[in-house]
Amino acid sequence: MKIKCESCGREFIRIKHNQRFCCPKCRTKVAGERYRQKNKEKLKEYNQKYRQKNKEKFREYTKKWCLKNPEKVKAKAKRYKDFGNEVLNQAIKHPRKFLGKYKKPKGKIGVYKKERLHEEFL
Ligand SMILES: [Zn+2]
Repeated sequence: MKIKCESCGREFIRIKHNQRFCCPKCRTKVAGERYRQKNKEKLKEYNQKYRQKNKEKFREYTKKWCLKNPEKVKAKAKRYKDFGNEVLNQAIKHPRKFLGKYKKPKGKIGVYKKERLHEEFL
């Protein structure tokens, strides 16, 4: 009897009576996802610590990636700029709405623009 793999959806023939996945790869993939879901906080903390410990390594890696993918870096910069401009345009159109919304800039994207907004409107 053919059944569908719970991970990739491919049809396969059961070898063991309780088999749910087509291959070990699919099984480990699902197990890994479940583990990450279960230990989200722990992993987050671990990753943060690891990043802190290996700052230089990550910086080096990012540098290399940027040199390798200049067009992606450019696209990202453009998105960032566009987003900022969009926020600015919206704020100019609806200053009241934005005054409340952008009092405390949160996150990384557009913080600069939001701070500028704050200065402009207060
Ligand atoms: Zn599969």
